[in-house]
Amino acid sequence: MPAICATHDSLAVYSTMRSRHTEIDAFATLDRVRAAADAGQLRLLRADCPLELTEELVTREAKYSFVHFLECRGCGAFVFFGIHIRGTPILKTVPFENIDHWPWDNTETQIDNMPEYLADTAR
Ligand SMILES: [Zn+2]
Repeated sequence: MPAICATHDSLAVYSTMRSRHTEIDAFATLDRVRAAADAGQLRLLRADCPLELTEELVTREAKYSFVHFLECRGCGAFVFFGIHIRGTPILKTVPFENIDHWPWDNTETQIDNMPEYLADTAR
């Protein structure tokens, strides 16, 4: 895996709104993640909701956190993108096992593309 990947390392949009800390701007980063997914650069594997519903559900505070696991098609890394109602957004690469180990809430909006993904990668 390359140290820097042109696809997933350019997803985060930072804001300095909260003094001292530089943190990820949730919705600006979400826009980039969506655009990359739409362009086929990222593949959504499992998530609390489709990327196109995330902003609305976060704004409504439908639940505490909205988590997305994606595969970077540029380098094969697995990317975790989490938006929390009262916390800092998180965008980072994670081991594949984290996708299964995440304590999913089984909401109606949940996305699970793992069966298709595993079928594709088994070839
Ligand atoms: Zn990548």
